[in-house]
Amino acid sequence: MSEKPRKGLDRRDLLVASIATFGAAAALAANGGAANAQNTAAPTTDAASGAPSGTVYTGDVIQGKKVVSALDVNDLEPGKKHLLYFQGVRMPTGQHWYVSVAVARGAKPGKRGVLTSGVHGDEMSSIHTVQTVMNQLDPAEMSGTVMAVTDVSRPALESMQRRWPNSGRGADLIDMNREWPGNENGFTAASRHAGLVFNRLLRPNADFAIDFHTGTTGFEVTAFNIAEMDVPEIKAMAELYPVGQIFDNPTYPNVLHNAFNAAGIPSFCPEIGAARHLDLEMIGLFVEGTMNVLKHHGIVAGPMGRTGKDVTVFVGNSSFPILATEGGIVEHLVKLNDKVEAGQKVAIQRNSFGEVVAEYTSSVAGEMTGKRSDAMSEPGNPLAFILFHKTATEGAETYPE
Ligand SMILES: [Zn+2]
Repeated sequence: MSEKPRKGLDRRDLLVASIATFGAAAALAANGGAANAQNTAAPTTDAASGAPSGTVYTGDVIQGKKVVSALDVNDLEPGKKHLLYFQGVRMPTGQHWYVSVAVARGAKPGKRGVLTSGVHGDEMSSIHTVQTVMNQLDPAEMSGTVMAVTDVSRPALESMQRRWPNSGRGADLIDMNREWPGNENGFTAASRHAGLVFNRLLRPNADFAIDFHTGTTGFEVTAFNIAEMDVPEIKAMAELYPVGQIFDNPTYPNVLHNAFNAAGIPSFCPEIGAARHLDLEMIGLFVEGTMNVLKHHGIVAGPMGRTGKDVTVFVGNSSFPILATEGGIVEHLVKLNDKVEAGQKVAIQRNSFGEVVAEYTSSVAGEMTGKRSDAMSEPGNPLAFILFHKTATEGAETYPE
């Protein structure tokens, strides 16, 4: 390769320039992964993350909504609802992904709750639950603030799919709920977006947080909460939902509700049925439970609705996966929420001739909490999850998806 200088930067200058750039990025990463070239307008910074504290308006207005690159809900006028866009990660075109932020700022001071949905792009009932709660709030009557972000993973939502389509190193699909708390200087757009959203929007405005989900495309779940029941503040909130199951398990460290917990903000994760459509009946249960949580924290006044005490709640700390061993059409023999005994046959699978090629039994006694809703399956796909109580847990468990 020629070492002769060409027009502009020669190869050596380019190398030096890129080393300097890399060094700067490494220094920033070592410094807590915060400030970067994306936002230089911050007047003050938060000691913990280096992210700006206080609200930063970019000066942009999109579809009539002001754009912020950092938000402190205490800067917003009390007694009103505010609709804003938060400026998320930059795309290959140089444009940004924006997320929709609704804030109900109470007339009187009080606790600040954060409601999130759309971390996965195919989970419509989670979005509708958050929107319904926000529509029931009257800031003039509230003591405290509720902030909602309904479309955290915008590019995934645009195609109503679970994962974020990343294009930095060729086409890639990234599960946004394995990225938290993110890194503003991370290697993927999903990681950088998570860092910006968490440091500058979610964490600074949360005394408690609820991250709403559903099953995923092709696999539906019951109404349940994922909640660490040995944490009193979390248990108190999870028990306020009139839903039949609680999954008392820490799940993965990099899911959003665990990033909140790691930051000292009590959080849990409701799961609301199937992906892709609205389950209005199930949504109603989670709206009622969430309004109970807001009453529990004194943000909203009024009598409690139905809670876990009004239904039979099955609490399990583990989930037994049944995986397909063959290809073919799956026939479930039990329904969601059904009790299952150890050794009970729960599904069969037939090949194209109609012959039964596999029979699936549960190894545990528990309740059906999830089942494959796509009838075809290849080997390795989860066909069912059975919520059960495990007497001794051996640390973190991973679940096939
Ligand atoms: Zn999800």
